[in-house]
Amino acid sequence: MIYYNSNIPLSILATTTQEAVSEQEEIVARKGHFYGVYLLCSQSLDSRYRGKCYVGFTVNPKRRIRQHNLGCDFGGARKTSRKGPWQMVMIVHGFPNNIVALQFEWAWQQPSLSTRLKMYPELKRKLPRENYFDYNFRILSKMLGVGPWHRLPLTVRWLETDYERAFDVPLPSQMEIVSGKVSISVSQRKRADDAEAPPPVAWAPECHLCIQRIEQPERSRLGCTNPTCRLTCHMLCLANYLLGDEPGHYIPVGGECPLCETRLGWAALLQRKRLLSGVPEELQDQDDDLSDEIDVDSEVEYVPA
Ligand SMILES: [Zn+2]
Ligand SMILES: [Zn+2]
Repeated sequence: MIYYNSNIPLSILATTTQEAVSEQEEIVARKGHFYGVYLLCSQSLDSRYRGKCYVGFTVNPKRRIRQHNLGCDFGGARKTSRKGPWQMVMIVHGFPNNIVALQFEWAWQQPSLSTRLKMYPELKRKLPRENYFDYNFRILSKMLGVGPWHRLPLTVRWLETDYERAFDVPLPSQMEIVSGKVSISVSQRKRADDAEAPPPVAWAPECHLCIQRIEQPERSRLGCTNPTCRLTCHMLCLANYLLGDEPGHYIPVGGECPLCETRLGWAALLQRKRLLSGVPEELQDQDDDLSDEIDVDSEVEYVPA
């Protein structure tokens, strides 16, 4: 894993932390956090990638699209690296917290595995002549009418007018459809930037649970045992999440993955982390960059309730 590429001038890195809000942009989430799940479409000139789509979660859409277009060394996903440029064509926001947004992201990415969607076999795969955008839009259309999401006050925001289209079925009445760029509030942006300071230190993975950087991923990062799940979080955050309703306990027994709902055993998670520690990165699951031998048990002696 390369954390900093010295071939890239510092000025480029510096500009990625600056954000100006143009007049046409709407500032959302003046109070509280912004949690968005977006759809990217590749504008690549290479026919292998052009039109491909990617669904992701973000607390800062402007920063996220830059990361995708800068590549995986700067926090873009490996799946999107060198397959762009990418356009963020729409974003769904208004989720009450990051977990609900991440579950929405997971289901949109994996409709055939999601417990909420797997009873809709028509969503399992793209139709022969359907393009990637139409397929993803079809999944989203279904999701907005299915529990638990159909009760949420979500905003479906079109970011690129070329892609804008009507939904086949009316959305639940508390949802709205809007158009136009989005910018998060200054205070939230500051929090997000603080969490990533100091620039221009290169990218570190972000914890899905607390949305802060994972400064020492090789020591304190945990993933999910489901190989298709992208869960990445601080060991302590996941321990706290799994402890949930069991205050007074310090070490969790297990629970459901916050993203894919796979049953996780805490001991198995630690064991897997230990095993991966000795495996070369290219042989590990995608997005895993665990390395070096570590004693993970020492990290969980105390978990605040
Ligand atoms: Zn965390
Ligand atoms: Zn998972």
